[in-house]
Amino acid sequence: MRLALAIDLGGTNIRAAVVDDTGNILHRADKSTPARQGAPAVVAAIADAAAQALAQASYPSIAGMCVCSPGPLDTITGVPLGVSTIDGFDQFPLRDELQKALGQKVWLENDGIAACIGEWKQGAGKGYQSVVYMTVSTGVGGGVVVDGHVLRGRRGMAGHVGHLAILADGKRCYCGNPGCLEAYACGPAFADRAREKAALAPQSSLHAQATKLEPHDVFAASMQGDALATELVAEEARYLGIGITSLLHLYSPEVVIIGGGLSNSFDQLAPGITAYVQANAMKPYRDVPILKAALAGNSGLIGAAELVFATGA
Ligand SMILES: [Zn+2]
Repeated sequence: MRLALAIDLGGTNIRAAVVDDTGNILHRADKSTPARQGAPAVVAAIADAAAQALAQASYPSIAGMCVCSPGPLDTITGVPLGVSTIDGFDQFPLRDELQKALGQKVWLENDGIAACIGEWKQGAGKGYQSVVYMTVSTGVGGGVVVDGHVLRGRRGMAGHVGHLAILADGKRCYCGNPGCLEAYACGPAFADRAREKAALAPQSSLHAQATKLEPHDVFAASMQGDALATELVAEEARYLGIGITSLLHLYSPEVVIIGGGLSNSFDQLAPGITAYVQANAMKPYRDVPILKAALAGNSGLIGAAELVFATGA
């Protein structure tokens, strides 16, 4: 059995885990990300989480270490290029600093691509050769596998599926581009729409808590039959359907996998997504299955470990 150390770096948490080559997480250590304390503090926290995960196990050695981080990220040089959720993650030599702190070779991967690899190798995409993965949570990210190869592109930056523009002159995305899928379909955008509409709808069960609604409140109210909540869920599903229809046309995947926080309510979103695809995708693309991620919040960790095993690090 081979083992890898995988670290999923997020704007809120750092999760470190020892993972085996069948996708089992054996030991883990979580820490909060010192996202406002500068890049060196983040590197120190990653090293600390790594040491904690490794200390729990007794085994001779690990095959390698991989850290997945939010992008944009040049994974060829190992340098983040303006990550909005972590201060100082712009032109910082992250991979080199991690190698110094951890005392060994470290692989650095975009978190969306790592999660895509996790689902492809050990999750809902197992057995397929062409996969589109989309994570829908605070942002919208993802990755693409075509003909058994992970798409990386120039500087390793391919597959930012959330920054596919779905509307001309649309709402400006944090990335600077107007009309990105992320600007409409991410969790905070969904919550903003819910707050705005619920404030104007005294007949809805969402009205009383309008100012602090979160996506899970809307899904729960829709389950109870609230008309506004059901309309909001349908709207969210439609945005996802618009993005997925273009991704089907672009990459012709055998399967589309949806992960991230909003995929907890996949069953409520799926009918609307499917309806949009059935009505608008070119006919030969309409039978592609759209599935919920199978590894829940661990797709990135398992993908990072798979990367270590695949590259023989
Ligand atoms: Zn964008």
